[in-house]
Amino acid sequence: MQAKPKEQDDAALLAALLAGELPDARGRFGAFGGRYVPETLVPALERLEAGVRDYLREPGFQEEFCHELFEWVGRPTALTPARGLSRAWGADVWLKREDLAHTGAHKINNAIGQALLAKRLGAKRVIAETGAGQHGVASAAACARIGLPCRVYMGAVDISRQAPNVDRMRRLGAEVVAVESGDKTLRAAIDEALRDWVSDPDGTYYLLGSAVGPHPYPYLVREMHRCIGDEARAQMLKQAGKLPDAVFACVGGGSNAIGLFHAFLGDPDVEIVGVEAGGIGSGLGQNAATLATGTPGVLQGSYTMILQDPNGQVQETQSVSAGLDYSGVGPEHAFLQSIGRVRYEAAGDADVLDALDEVCAEEGILTALETAHAFVGAREWARKNPGKTMLIGNSGRGDKDMSTLVQHPTTRARHAGA
Ligand SMILES: *Cc1c(COP(=O)(O)O)cnc(C)c1O
Repeated sequence: MQAKPKEQDDAALLAALLAGELPDARGRFGAFGGRYVPETLVPALERLEAGVRDYLREPGFQEEFCHELFEWVGRPTALTPARGLSRAWGADVWLKREDLAHTGAHKINNAIGQALLAKRLGAKRVIAETGAGQHGVASAAACARIGLPCRVYMGAVDISRQAPNVDRMRRLGAEVVAVESGDKTLRAAIDEALRDWVSDPDGTYYLLGSAVGPHPYPYLVREMHRCIGDEARAQMLKQAGKLPDAVFACVGGGSNAIGLFHAFLGDPDVEIVGVEAGGIGSGLGQNAATLATGTPGVLQGSYTMILQDPNGQVQETQSVSAGLDYSGVGPEHAFLQSIGRVRYEAAGDADVLDALDEVCAEEGILTALETAHAFVGAREWARKNPGKTMLIGNSGRGDKDMSTLVQHPTTRARHAGA
């Protein structure tokens, strides 16, 4: 028997995804995803999966979620024509402004959505993990809004690096717990949160912060963020009168990117590009470019692309942007890469800092360091594809990055002031 060409398989897999048949019953997107967890975690995940099935599509839940997005988060967020960048790049550039959402980034969509789900499931308390602190702040805010106690696990190293966010979380009523085990950063914080969850799976809800981890989280988190792409697609048609030729987003765990990309996956003429943290180089340990440079493996409950050495030891990451510093990535992105629907590339620290300055100067928007990666990818694409229409996910604002930015004085402002 003759093997089917890969393109036919890829097209069938994309069709299955768009028809809602993926993730499949085992929580897989093609080869990726699934649920690689200890026996003790299975009941909690099955309970969550049942809750997702019962409530996510339920009209009452959707109505409450939409209300919170409208009245508290500030959705829909604006679609802004980027006139300065359009001029500078010779393109027609549009920005989806997640920086205008409450707490300054897309993360709040997922935090408020899951906090509402926690309430429906009868949870008495919420736990969350955080790396740089942004998801902890969003979770603390959402739990204050919904009226649930919130405990945030944070690596001891991150706590010392991110003091203002620790204070923010505490003011918003959360208890911040320092994690002294493992690498004392995000990975250890996720492990600790999972341990807490196992000890009380009925009373506790684990509010995971990106489209990663065991099934059903990658699916659940994507659904919480799909408003980004749904809004942006309708706004493009209304304001630009057409769909973009290309869509760009930065990819850490991949939540803002998957939320933006989903609405465009079924538009075959729209090119989709995810941009990861290229750090200081392409060598192992020098970046966080999981899809661009990693290999398949299991990390924190999911079969996905990860950064590991030839012995399967997970590698530390490096990036100027704390929010992209993770050795894994959401399995749906690994899947979209494997079927060739989305391309992933890496942007290095130096280019990222330069792009951030360009966005400031041209648009009057201080974008986040994470987000600036998407602008690097978009700028390079514009050079090769003049005159095209481009949509960039502006995932968050950069005020939180000032302590990093002051260490990298801008060259542009000096020109302007001279
Ligand atoms: C956390 C964060 C990211 C990275 O997370 P994803 O799950 O990949 O979206 C990107 N941009 C901003 C502004 C963030 O705060």
